[in-house]
Amino acid sequence: MSSRIVIIGGGQAGGWAAKTLRDEGFDGEICIVAEEVWDFYERPPLSKAALLDAEPQLPRLFTQDAQQALNLRWFRPRRAEAIVRDEKVVMLDNGEKLAYDQLLLATGGRARLPGNDWRAHPQVYTLRHWDDATRLKQRLAESQRLAVVGGGWIGLEIAASARKSGVDVVLFEQQSALCQRSVNAAVSEELLALHREQGVDVRCGCGALELSDNHGRPEIHCDGQRETFDAVVVGIGVELNLELARAAGLKVDRAIVVDGQGRTSDPAIFAAGDVAQHLRYGLSVQSWAFAQNQAVATAKAMIDPTAPAYDEAAWLWSDQYHHNIQILGVPQSGSRTVVRREPRSTLFFSLGEDGQLTQLVAFNDARTVKLAKRWMASGRDLSGVPLTDPDFSLMSLR
Ligand SMILES: Cc1cc2nc3c(=O)[nH]c(=O)nc-3n(C[C@H](O)[C@H](O)[C@H](O)COP(=O)(O)OP(=O)(O)OC[C@H]3O[C@@H](n4cnc5c(N)ncnc54)[C@H](O)[C@@H]3O)c2cc1C
Repeated sequence: MSSRIVIIGGGQAGGWAAKTLRDEGFDGEICIVAEEVWDFYERPPLSKAALLDAEPQLPRLFTQDAQQALNLRWFRPRRAEAIVRDEKVVMLDNGEKLAYDQLLLATGGRARLPGNDWRAHPQVYTLRHWDDATRLKQRLAESQRLAVVGGGWIGLEIAASARKSGVDVVLFEQQSALCQRSVNAAVSEELLALHREQGVDVRCGCGALELSDNHGRPEIHCDGQRETFDAVVVGIGVELNLELARAAGLKVDRAIVVDGQGRTSDPAIFAAGDVAQHLRYGLSVQSWAFAQNQAVATAKAMIDPTAPAYDEAAWLWSDQYHHNIQILGVPQSGSRTVVRREPRSTLFFSLGEDGQLTQLVAFNDARTVKLAKRWMASGRDLSGVPLTDPDFSLMSLR
């Protein structure tokens, strides 16, 4: 068993890896290099409870006592600047060298911005860290009119939280539909209707936007028109923190290429969470479930090479207004989508040519998602099933 494991990144994947190593009996040293000052925390509440609760608390992964019991050696706030693979050393931003027997990269991503001028404006916000949420919440309380740039999941959640806080919202999406990369057109339409119903002024297909300043307030130029806002929140996706892996010569594709056990092209280096490429889909699945479960599987494999490989379908959820939306699987070309509407829920089933479920998007129906995970895992043929008939009980397929 290795005597020292170094984890770069003190986020969700880093936290779950550290906990799993201890749960599985690793008694060597675990070093965490974290550029944030906070204990391990999870990010989904940042666009929800952290903006809405009267006194939001850091959404810790573990209680203080539980984290203490992990007996970790923290290097924070510290940035890992480079990996010297020949020497098995991580270089820190204070010049310190940290030797490792095994290394886990769990560096996540950073919020993308359309340009540096956006970064420089004091009323342009992004949402990735706890501090971002605290700042944004404060600004929302002082705002009447907010621009959200980006109609993906995070942009939509911010729009929903802002509407719940009584703020007027204009949402700009460059593409012709909302969440276009992760769901099909029927689901995009549903999301559009939902947000328009709640009073969000949604502008899809708006093309490239420009930003200027109007006496300290941000001004957005779109289609020859200028509009002034109290604040702009940008949610146009994530730049994965892949620089360390690239500079170290690890195999990187759309994210760091790993096997089912999270091992990179260097057998002493592993990757977990947003930066680890999903084996089945060949892309970065940026979700809470992947950050936790793939990190757990990777940590197990770091101390036991016979540990089972991680192979779960992508799954993420989003809370918007009073809706819980769950997305299982990723869109696949050639799939056809059928819709099932019930009084309290709507389900979008996408089936491949072989009748297998390729994606399910469920509005307010966690039970069916649970069942669908099993259909997906077993490759069940659903082509003869009356999925759209609300009188047909899906639970009969258990
Ligand atoms: C606002 C928001 C809402 C979300 N909502 C949902 C949701 O509703 N449902 C869902 O399924 N998913 C959601 N997600 C996605 C989910 O939170 C992420 O997929 C998950 O946090 C990824 O975990 P991670 O550990 O890989 O990365 P992170 O949680 O980003 O952690 C990476 C950490 O590494 C640090 N780091 C990076 N580089 C270095 C370095 N060189 N040295 C030291 N430290 C470094 C970073 O500062 C960060 O603290 C949301 C994400 C955000 C931002």
